[in-house]
Amino acid sequence: MNKVKEACPKCGLKYSIEPAFYTGSMYVSYAVGVAVAIAAYLLSLIFGLHFEPIGILLSIVAVLLIAMPYIGAVSKSIWAHFFFKYNPEIAKKTSNDSRA
Ligand SMILES: [Zn+2]
Repeated sequence: MNKVKEACPKCGLKYSIEPAFYTGSMYVSYAVGVAVAIAAYLLSLIFGLHFEPIGILLSIVAVLLIAMPYIGAVSKSIWAHFFFKYNPEIAKKTSNDSRA
């Protein structure tokens, strides 16, 4: 699930800069998960669903389970963005290559 490619197919940038690099994305997924949980709760209020505390818990757990693959993917992307910088030189070079 949510396997990150070894390297960019266009420019060859290595995505896994060290072993278990994406383990750190767990910290990000915690924050993203909390944001999703709060969003789920607020949406239940907006839609007028006034759950008991156990209902709130179960609805948040259900939403987190459904959203888990997406939270994982988004977290890895955010984590990678802390370490990789957009390089316009390489972007220009690879787009020239594809045109040729
Ligand atoms: Zn690339």
